Amino acid sequence: MGEKSSTGEANNSLLLHGKYELGRLLGHGTFAKVYHARNLKSGKSVAMKVVGKEKVMKVGMMEQIKREISAMNMVKHPSIVQLHEVMASKSKIYIAMELVRGGELFNKIARGRLREETARLYFQQLVSAVDFCHSRGVYHRDLKPENLLLDEDGNLKVTDFGLSTFSEHLRQDGLLHTTCGTPAYVAPEVIGKKGYDGAKADIWSCGVILYVLLAGFLPFQDDNLVALYKKIYRGDFKCPPWFSSEARRLITKLLDPNPNNRITISKIMESSWFKKAVPKNVMGVKREELDLEEKIKQQEECKSSTMNAFHII
Ligand code: ATP
Repeated sequence: MGEKSSTGEANNSLLLHGKYELGRLLGHGTFAKVYHARNLKSGKSVAMKVVGKEKVMKVGMMEQIKREISAMNMVKHPSIVQLHEVMASKSKIYIAMELVRGGELFNKIARGRLREETARLYFQQLVSAVDFCHSRGVYHRDLKPENLLLDEDGNLKVTDFGLSTFSEHLRQDGLLHTTCGTPAYVAPEVIGKKGYDGAKADIWSCGVILYVLLAGFLPFQDDNLVALYKKIYRGDFKCPPWFSSEARRLITKLLDPNPNNRITISKIMESSWFKKAVPKNVMGVKREELDLEEKIKQQEECKSSTMNAFHII
């Protein structure tokens, strides 16, 4: 953070673009550091993701960063981390996002498995967010507890759209062909080379997440990657005895190795396990509720803000 910002002030003087005051480091990923920041005008706190352009370009990841920004721009939903704005200096990209203060769901599971009611609430929020992404033609492709943050009220927020893609990237066969994601959470058809439906692959990852929430460990595990992929391919997992029969039934449908037989999001939402006590805020933004006019308006807003962002990058 030793470079000069566009205002001419050194970034480590904590002033960014004269607009944000940068604070402590919240965490870092492969290409970015995430800081606490305060919008000087509104006084509101945000999470500021700082990406080094050189590092990203060296490994040919600039398109991926742009895709992450575009995807976040397209999905405004209470269970998805919101993008506020994107800024750039000569050497860095600054992504101002909603600040989520409760840490990763991963850390919570690391302390032990969850009660079924708690797991249900997270799963309902996750599925609602994923449904919304799919309705916008966005496939996350890296759903896992490390990419699910918790806010102060314990609500789940999906983040890290770094591996996401859009329906317009489907090949002529209507399928995606890039193998990506995290091995333990990846669907069998993503490992194969025949192409896959991004929505069905995300649903599989939701199944692995639900299993992990209820069990406290992964459904498919092996130190050897080939052996792990074989287990995933065969859908070779067992539910521990403490899973309720309804949870078992749902997980078996989510982790169906045949994507054509795998449960769809609307069927998940109709399942008895999912439907128990759905909190009002979870189902606040359902695909059916968005009328065409609203969809077009949102898409146009997204397009113009993304274009602005890419102009400066
Ligand atoms: P990679 O993208 O390389 O897999 P990552 O997902 O961990 O890594 P980032 O998205 O850059 O990387 O996030 C780094 C860390 O910053 C996260 O692990 C999280 O602890 C923190 N963080 C990210 N986004 C937010 C946010 N909106 N609010 C609060 N903390 C955040």
